[in-house]
Amino acid sequence: KDFRNYGLSEDILRAIDSLGYEAPTPVQREVIPRVLAHRDCTVRAQTGSGKTAAFGIPLCELIDWEENRPQALVLTPTRELAGQVKEDLVNIGRFKRIKAVAIYGQQPFAAQKIELHQKVHAVAGTPGRMLDHIRRGTLDVERIRFLVIDEADEMLNRGFIEQVEAIIDELPKERVTLLFSATLPDDVDRLCRTHLREPLHIEI
Ligand code: AMP
Repeated sequence: KDFRNYGLSEDILRAIDSLGYEAPTPVQREVIPRVLAHRDCTVRAQTGSGKTAAFGIPLCELIDWEENRPQALVLTPTRELAGQVKEDLVNIGRFKRIKAVAIYGQQPFAAQKIELHQKVHAVAGTPGRMLDHIRRGTLDVERIRFLVIDEADEMLNRGFIEQVEAIIDELPKERVTLLFSATLPDDVDRLCRTHLREPLHIEI
């Protein structure tokens, strides 16, 4: 099992190499080829399983560098995770010069607005602040083709599910949606049934 089996471009393979990843983890073996084939997925996997790279690698591969408007959104329950996801996307997308930003609360809105006004391929962030930017027109979602809902059960615990759904309602229908969760409580399951398109259910 090798990262070279997925038809990834040299820019992405070189980044994986420089991160020291020698072989895909089980969650990566399931998720990477499915996302490359534009399949919606629900993924039951824990932190530490390599889940961030499982979506980060195919996202960075599929992002069109030429497109100046955001193409991928990653929703996270915490600021720390948003920052981590952004770092991982920057690392995986390094040689492709992917531009990723993190957007979360308790950070100046104006500075984020300026950041979002520049060329950005991928945005990671917490739902409240993300929704704020969408509604104020400072985050352009018309070209979003990929949505990742990370740690969905934790979103639910923190009362963010309604904001997550409000964000989804603003996005183009033609997109790939991935939902990651350690557990699948009823409200998360309902979210999947409402907003994912014939998802593949992956359990690690
Ligand atoms: P995550 O589950 O996304 O929080 O990742 C857990 C840790 O595993 C992170 O430090 C990653 O950098 C690392 N990691 C992800 N994929 C691989 C891989 N294929 N080989 C080795 N380490 C990895």
